[in-house]
Amino acid sequence: MKPYFACLAIACTLTLAYFSGGSADGKQAPQPKQRKVVKTDQEWLKQLSQDQFLVTRRKVTEPPFSGQYVHVKGKGVFECVCCGAELFNTAAKFDSGTGWPSFFRPAAANRVDRQMDYSDGSPRIEVVCNECGAHLGHVFDDGPAPTGLRFCINSLSLKFVPDAKTKAAATKKTKAKTTKNTKVAKNTTGKNAKSNSTASTAQPTPKAESAANDAPAAGSDSAKTDASKAESASAEGDSSAKPAPPAKAKKTAKPEGDE
Ligand SMILES: [Zn+2]
Repeated sequence: MKPYFACLAIACTLTLAYFSGGSADGKQAPQPKQRKVVKTDQEWLKQLSQDQFLVTRRKVTEPPFSGQYVHVKGKGVFECVCCGAELFNTAAKFDSGTGWPSFFRPAAANRVDRQMDYSDGSPRIEVVCNECGAHLGHVFDDGPAPTGLRFCINSLSLKFVPDAKTKAAATKKTKAKTTKNTKVAKNTTGKNAKSNSTASTAQPTPKAESAANDAPAAGSDSAKTDASKAESASAEGDSSAKPAPPAKAKKTAKPEGDE
């Protein structure tokens, strides 16, 4: 008699545990996914800049055209700035004119995860790093062929790793530039005759990435809110960033809000 009840109790417990576990019927409150790379805010703050932290860990959006990867020369891959996972590559990058790096697909389908984002009133699909859950940006269905998708990603959540060829070309270029500059310097110090013209042409232009010719992000999704949020992003500081970042904390990103 007793063993029978014991078995019954165990069976009931297991059944209950199974159905309350969540995934069985699929329609339970979404649980935050367990990621492979998990760190505390303090740990993230140690390895990230203030802005990178705000974007990846507080879901703040960088201002349009502010990111260093809106335009990228050469080929390479974009890694997650938090965990180093390879997320996107230049083969799928296109100029969306929105002011954010845009891709029509991730490096592989399982590199990014998607989740609903209602923080802005209208629902959007947020894109996060599958490994560490870093906020990357959003995905929209107005992208080019072949996918028709536009992964609108913050530069601050990425790290560009150029391929060997691109890297070699870049170092060659910098070398050439420096030798040219020293030559010019010699000329100007030697005799100051017509050094004017030489110097002016050789002036190192601060690599203006012609971002200006892109239409402002007007039509784009979140441009407006992004821009406003962004101000606070760059204005560093975040009240929600508990671990008291060294800088002066200001109001900003929504606290903790994991959606
Ligand atoms: Zn990551």
